[in-house]
Amino acid sequence: MFNGEEMIVMDNQKSTDSLIETVRYALDNSPFYKSKLNGFYELSVSELQENWKMIPFTTKQDLSESNTDFLCVPMTEVADFVTTSGTTGDPVTIFLTRSDLDRLAVNERDSLKLAGVQKGDIVQLMTTIDRQFMAGMAYYQGVQKLEAGMIRIGPGVPELQWNSILRYKPRVLIAVPSFILTLINYAKTNKIDLSTTSVETIVCIGESVRDDAFSLNILGERITKDWPIQLYSTYASTEMATAFTECEAQQGCHLNDELLFLEVLDENGEEVANGDEGEVVITTLGVTGTPLIRYRTGDIAKRFSEPCTCGRKTPRLGPIVGRKNQMIKYKGTTVFPQAIFDIFDSIREVICYKITVSKDDLQNDLVTILLESKLQESELMTEIKNKCHSKLKVIPNFEFDDLEKIQAQVYKKNLRKPEKIIFK
Ligand SMILES: [Zn+2]
Repeated sequence: MFNGEEMIVMDNQKSTDSLIETVRYALDNSPFYKSKLNGFYELSVSELQENWKMIPFTTKQDLSESNTDFLCVPMTEVADFVTTSGTTGDPVTIFLTRSDLDRLAVNERDSLKLAGVQKGDIVQLMTTIDRQFMAGMAYYQGVQKLEAGMIRIGPGVPELQWNSILRYKPRVLIAVPSFILTLINYAKTNKIDLSTTSVETIVCIGESVRDDAFSLNILGERITKDWPIQLYSTYASTEMATAFTECEAQQGCHLNDELLFLEVLDENGEEVANGDEGEVVITTLGVTGTPLIRYRTGDIAKRFSEPCTCGRKTPRLGPIVGRKNQMIKYKGTTVFPQAIFDIFDSIREVICYKITVSKDDLQNDLVTILLESKLQESELMTEIKNKCHSKLKVIPNFEFDDLEKIQAQVYKKNLRKPEKIIFK
């Protein structure tokens, strides 16, 4: 069974030790991994290393179906109960110990440092900190660890956001980038001069602001055209409890290799070549509550292994191209949601939209776009239909409603990201 041909390669000996420790820790403490990795129990450290690729993947479904079996400590040692959406729609819990909270603080401190945030900076948080979400809490802890200051406004409510920006003069915002469009819109209607605000940097979460060539994508361009600020992309998930963050070179998001082991794999489970895209598969390092081994995130991204111009040697990930389960097969073509986002993000008059993907009787995907009512009779609809036709090769269905109602459907209080698309 073990052929020794799949030796893992890591630059950093400390990380390799940490990786092997994670596997042994999970084997010793997690009922799920005890049974799943039973055959690996007797392997020596070097055998484990040599046979890394024989270790089976952990899937979202595993996490959903055997949730509490992942837990490695007694429930009384859980410090924070975080949830993430599961494959069946039921939330999945990620159990954090006190040491996991410390790890999270270190992770976000390092992540913010990459984006140029420093001790003494004032940071305004525009994401939820409660409701069992990880991101807001993690950023709060990271800012404290960095010895910077935080204003916790939470998501939405442009008026509150602006009152705080004008009053406390934060240099950094942490926000979902599409919400920044709403902020800009509010500033324009209320005569706030965007060229003189205190804000210099936005750490963007949940959505990409870059395209394949690391230039700003349409959303990123729309923001910076009106507001001359630096946008930093991040990529993170609750399960990995770690963020990939852009450095000043803005050539992909750096891995924090002390906290995570990264594999980017093709359809056959082989590591992709430098610059190629594959599925992001992660193993958490140093997690004691819910460690994950070879966890398939379902996210597709390009991997860049050559040293970055910033001098760091850690691998980088390009923007997430899409999710494996979000490929839309549409009248003979295949598109990822980002292609549709790009169309509607590029039209200035479209302030908010919602995409619904459903199935017809023949199990083909049907795409319906909900737009603001005032666009229905406007000449812009012709331009929109033409753009859809040229970029997607097909014109989706359109429905219309009031802007506020669409915004309420997209920026839901109980969700961490704007829900611009749903799959029915
Ligand atoms: Zn770099």
